[in-house]
Amino acid sequence: MVRAYVALGANLGDAAAALRRAVETMGKLPKTQVLQSSSLYKTAPLDTDSGGELPAPGEDYFNAVVELDTGLTAPDLLTHLQKIEQQAGRERPYRNAPRTLDLDLLLYGSARIDSVRLILPHPRMWQRAFVLLPLAEIAPGLVSSLRLAAVEHQRIERLSEPFLR
Ligand code: ADP
Ligand code: MG
Repeated sequence: MVRAYVALGANLGDAAAALRRAVETMGKLPKTQVLQSSSLYKTAPLDTDSGGELPAPGEDYFNAVVELDTGLTAPDLLTHLQKIEQQAGRERPYRNAPRTLDLDLLLYGSARIDSVRLILPHPRMWQRAFVLLPLAEIAPGLVSSLRLAAVEHQRIERLSEPFLR
């Protein structure tokens, strides 16, 4: 079994419900268990890929991170995650478009992969408060205070409502 971390995000439709459903579905994947989930976070849409942080179109995002134990290989896990995105009605009309569900594989054990469809660790995770704060909540040892300081200026709200019941 390998310890893996998945970031969830959505900003179309009932986004919080989509994230909850996705966690439930991940728990039913072959050879896979959900060990922990972060709280739910809310962030304004930002184009963090651009290096700067430009506003992106759409509603606020709901975000969370879950910790999995899995016997799936990393590429197989990604395939399953993409299927779950599709089942949630994910479309990709343009880059950073609003989405019903985005599942990003952040870390898969200590694997370092650089293939066409899968890069590990996730290449943009360290630039995103909406990834690092929920990740630090469930795996504090994986996110240094320097990493957290680097995204400190990004606005993000931790919701008090329980994410998973
Ligand atoms: P983004 O999440 O960056 O907004 P997408 O969800 O549309 O964009 O993903 C774009 C591509 O990123 C996918 O085709 C996928 O193959 C690739 N990808 C590379 N590494 C990863 C990873 N670690 N987790 C998820 N997708 C990845
Ligand atoms: Mg993605």
